[in-house]
Amino acid sequence: MQWSWPGNSKLPNNHLEYARRRDAVAAGLAARRLDALAVSFGPNLRYLTGFTGSNGMLLQLPDDAVFFTDPRYAIQSAREVSCRVWVCTGPILPELAAEARKLRVRRLGFESSRITFEASRILESALQRSATLVPVSGWLETCRMVKAPEELERIRRAVHTNSAAFEQALRHVREGTREQDFAAELEYRMRRLGAEKPAFETIVASGERSALPHAQPTAARLRAGELVVVDMGAMQDGYTSDMTRMLFVGRPGSRVKRLYNAVLKAQAAALAAVRAGVTAGHVDRCARRVLAAEKLAHLFVHSTGHGLGLEIHEPPRLGRRDRTRLAEGMVVTIEPGIYLEGFGGIRIEDTVVVTRTGCEILTPTPKPLRIV
Ligand code: ZN
Ligand code: ZN
Repeated sequence: MQWSWPGNSKLPNNHLEYARRRDAVAAGLAARRLDALAVSFGPNLRYLTGFTGSNGMLLQLPDDAVFFTDPRYAIQSAREVSCRVWVCTGPILPELAAEARKLRVRRLGFESSRITFEASRILESALQRSATLVPVSGWLETCRMVKAPEELERIRRAVHTNSAAFEQALRHVREGTREQDFAAELEYRMRRLGAEKPAFETIVASGERSALPHAQPTAARLRAGELVVVDMGAMQDGYTSDMTRMLFVGRPGSRVKRLYNAVLKAQAAALAAVRAGVTAGHVDRCARRVLAAEKLAHLFVHSTGHGLGLEIHEPPRLGRRDRTRLAEGMVVTIEPGIYLEGFGGIRIEDTVVVTRTGCEILTPTPKPLRIV
């Protein structure tokens, strides 16, 4: 039977790509003095095996890999996962530990920042002192920073879905529309356009509440003279997108225009700073410098952006002190914002791919303040 990606039969078989990624991890075990790595975190599992289910673990060895799951995923994992699959009859951890014992694993890496304390205790006791558990944190996440061409293709599609849904939903928005109806329309449109789900809880916040960077939509109605922030993303074929755009109900006054243009300039400066070789912190400082010149830097209370991919927030973080060097193929957001209590907030966000000489802005949605 021909294997195909769930929900999209046009995509090529990616088994070779998953095998290549597992080989890279296998090759890195020795340098970390590990005999094996137990991978349990969903996005890392998907990255290494293609498994889209909710319960599985990978035991990665120097020259082999065994995937463990439960009977609910027997059929699915046989289709999705190209390495050896072990369908457990009971809980996964003891069976994985038994296999590690059998293979004489002495030092077993585990994802210490992704596993519960209880799970680590179960694993430890099931190893019966045959192996030492070694905490591993951030390794696979670092591997995931630079995207392969097929990952970029999926992100592009998620971005497209996101922007198309925004345009479609806008046609239904006017003064008096409730924030939660607008958010529901955005999410419905994303699904109709092929998204599995929103990449995160869609933000639609109007008036003073737009000053809350992570506001949730309420029953409040869009009123004349108010700013509206829309922050949305699609998850499609497992990959995410992220975009923020601003609307204004009615005609904006000079203060809104001045603040909006300042954020737009800061965003443009950060976009212009992105290229392979610069640090994430440098990009952040470029955005902050523009806002400082307008005496608005103290209102910019978060970092300039973040990586995205299988998760909506991934390294690198484009924050002041982040020294990660950007590399070709990384996908990051650029999203400076300012937040004025009692007045409102303004944020503008695009998803971009880092290139050798700059960046490619994936988000096609125009940036001038949208008038409703
Ligand atoms: Zn966002
Ligand atoms: Zn974001």
